[in-house]
Amino acid sequence: MTLRRPPHPPGISGTPSRERFAVVDPATGEAFEDAPDQRPDDLDAAVRGAQEAWRDWRTDSTVRTSALLAAADAVEAAGPDLAPLLTREQGKPLAESYAEVDRTAARLRHFAGLTPETRLITDGRPVRGEIRWRPLGPVAAIVPWNFPLQLASAKFAPALAAGNTVVLKPSPFTPLATRLLASVVSSVLPEDVLTVVTGHEPLGARLASHPGIRHVTFTGSAATGRAVARGAAASLARVTLELGGNDAAILLEDTDVERIADRLFWAAFRNCGQVCMAVKRVYAPAALYSDVVEALARHAKSVVVGPGLDPGTQLGPLNNAPQLARIEDRTAQALADGARAVAGGHRLDRPGYFYAPTILADVPPDSPVVTEEQFGPVLPVLPYEHLDDAVEAANSTGFGLGGSVWGTDLDRAQAVADRLECGTAWVNHHAELSLAQPFAGIKDSGVGVAGGQWGLYGNLRPFVVHRPLEA
Ligand code: NAD
Repeated sequence: MTLRRPPHPPGISGTPSRERFAVVDPATGEAFEDAPDQRPDDLDAAVRGAQEAWRDWRTDSTVRTSALLAAADAVEAAGPDLAPLLTREQGKPLAESYAEVDRTAARLRHFAGLTPETRLITDGRPVRGEIRWRPLGPVAAIVPWNFPLQLASAKFAPALAAGNTVVLKPSPFTPLATRLLASVVSSVLPEDVLTVVTGHEPLGARLASHPGIRHVTFTGSAATGRAVARGAAASLARVTLELGGNDAAILLEDTDVERIADRLFWAAFRNCGQVCMAVKRVYAPAALYSDVVEALARHAKSVVVGPGLDPGTQLGPLNNAPQLARIEDRTAQALADGARAVAGGHRLDRPGYFYAPTILADVPPDSPVVTEEQFGPVLPVLPYEHLDDAVEAANSTGFGLGGSVWGTDLDRAQAVADRLECGTAWVNHHAELSLAQPFAGIKDSGVGVAGGQWGLYGNLRPFVVHRPLEA
């Protein structure tokens, strides 16, 4: 297959760096392309460009709405270029890459249609307060490698709709589809409204602490999120952090295991388990434990694992070598702790970063595969005797992104879901989000709110004008 070489980053003024770094295809473990390894000068030029472009972009919301709608159309039209490139560098099955492109276009349309509401305060005083909303300025968007396009658009669509300009930094594992996306979107935007910079650290750290940036919106690990917050403290820029998760799924005694097994399996294994809000631990009542383990193991053994570009592939490789090593370590530790691999438990004997879909039974509750985020195709299943213990275990980690409760009595399941300490809870499904909902983790899962109108306001500041009712 011939892949179109992405053009130079749009909006980069100054001399483009001649240094480049290799981008690896996770299905082969071999480099197949390269991307610019940009320098501090390039970054400074990008931020200067964003500051200049902000002067006009902030002024007219109708211009922004039309531009974002045109951008959505352009992204959709570029699907046949974007999706295969995304699969090649990220690893996911091609159909999922197309779905990611569609979601990116849908998000642009969603935010194109949102405008902040001007409100009046009339509280009995002889003055009236008018609350208006103003953009913040250049926004730094820093994203990881698991959903490069979807997560980038979750940052830039609300930021641009609110009247900010954006400097976007993708992960060095997945720079290519993001560069192409930015060039597609930028083709219908004024110059320097959206700019992408690529390279290795300390590029992200420098962007997060850049004095020209007024909002740093970051998605990634909690450890990096802390570093980003420290960096942004230098200029007191606003910080939004969407971080990791260790979501629990609690099955109740009335769960129809056969009926939900497929949904539960994919809630854990989609995108090879590299989803912040994937199911990362399952708690099953002791009476159903062996049925649940067996049903999940059956799915794990029957899944077609292969390169994302092969038709028929259901599960691709892990994205990168460090992530594969982390999964191998976590699983080895769990097995050493006494867990049983009922399916998988090993790397696949082929080139690339493939790991067998793995179901772990009899895992000690304090094993790191339970207490920390694994972020891969390995799912521990734990039994419980008393529901209160399962709820306590679900709430016991440092994370608080999502969680789900499964059962036939929906009211009871929802009552249990209400007890989960997290930002989003589901009944009988998991990890499905509406574009219109607020998305916010608690504890180590994040700071600030993304999604829907909350995502828009996260990119705005209130500006209040008081005036007397009479002259
Ligand atoms: P990461 O934290 O290593 O990297 C994320 C981004 O930050 C990358 O672009 C990276 O280059 C950059 N970066 C690295 N060091 C930096 C620094 N010091 N300053 C600024 N930027 C820096 O995360 P990852 O391994 O790429 O992604 C996996 C993590 O992301 C998981 O923990 C996952 O749960 C989380 N995640 C969260 C969400 C969410 O919405 N809550 C969504 C997807 C992924």
